[in-house]
Amino acid sequence: MDRIKDKGQRKDIKSLTLKELKIEMEELGEKPFRAGQIYQWMHQKLARGFEEMTNLPAALRGRLSQEYAYTVLKPLRVQESSLDGTRKYLFELGDGKLVESVWMRYHHGNSLCISSQVGCRMGCAFCASTIDGLERSLTPSEMLDQIYAVTLLTGERVSNVVVMGIGEPLDNYQNLLKFITLLTDENGLHISQRSITVSTCGLVREMRMLADERLQITLALSLHAATDEKRRRLMPVAKRYSISELMEACGYYFEKTGRRITFEYSLVKGVNDGEEDADLLAALAGKCKAHVNLIPVNPVSERNFVQPDTKNVKGFKNKLEKYGINVTIRREMGRDIDGACGQLRRRQRALQ
Ligand code: SAH
Repeated sequence: MDRIKDKGQRKDIKSLTLKELKIEMEELGEKPFRAGQIYQWMHQKLARGFEEMTNLPAALRGRLSQEYAYTVLKPLRVQESSLDGTRKYLFELGDGKLVESVWMRYHHGNSLCISSQVGCRMGCAFCASTIDGLERSLTPSEMLDQIYAVTLLTGERVSNVVVMGIGEPLDNYQNLLKFITLLTDENGLHISQRSITVSTCGLVREMRMLADERLQITLALSLHAATDEKRRRLMPVAKRYSISELMEACGYYFEKTGRRITFEYSLVKGVNDGEEDADLLAALAGKCKAHVNLIPVNPVSERNFVQPDTKNVKGFKNKLEKYGINVTIRREMGRDIDGACGQLRRRQRALQ
């Protein structure tokens, strides 16, 4: 697993399961029930450090801080949308690197979009997060603490988690799985698997591995084009895997989990928004029983992509619906606060 120890070789205590923590306490010669107390402080009471764990003896707290690193993310900036209350947080990690999380309020509850890596190496043409490549993957605790920090900052429960921020979650596979285990643990925040969505650019091998886990999470596939030729122009990963391999992996996911896949499709004017694109996309979605989520492309200053007019977006949606496809247009949240993922981080780094 990536970075389970910090530079001083201390273990990352917030990335341990309760079972692992019990073994640690045994090895330290502590009573096993201490593991339960510490775990509750970390994952339910959302303590920001060992010093807050007031029902532990001071000597144990001292020992814990010598033996273990305690991950807490530092909020550097918050931007709040005056249009819809969406909040975008910029966090600093222990080594000074930056990630973003976006908090959105819906009628069915609060949703948090979290990052899974610092930067990204997938190279999608329209995406701001990948421009400078991948710096490193996040640990399970760094993914969790985006949720914990935002819960404390807003004072409200996060009910849905979408792993759709900076990074490719399936390129950080083991840490992602551990993160899901900790987040859904009844001794932690106990968020249900069905309230978690993981979005991938289409790493077929890992999609199949994930299917074999038989989790009840939602898998979203960033498709963005309905032919290999077009997809390769937008997404380098399409050179590794063809659409037919992707569709087989989607079928396998559905077969193993019973969960319908979501296709994400960013509409770019003159690139993938034509009639024929809609016909081909409908055929793919129909075959996989997928739900389609249309996202008018979010203009990124470094890139030249333009959104289709609202009329054309609606036309595209209607066409898919005529084929009986279940379609939504993603509501654009926080348009006034650097909408597209990765833009806040880029701006901050340019200032530093
Ligand atoms: N790496 C993952 C998750 C991160 S991006 C993935 O590829 O799915 C989350 C979604 O936003 C993806 O569908 C991605 O393709 C899309 N996206 C990225 N930049 C965008 C932009 N400028 N406009 C619209 N969608 C964008």
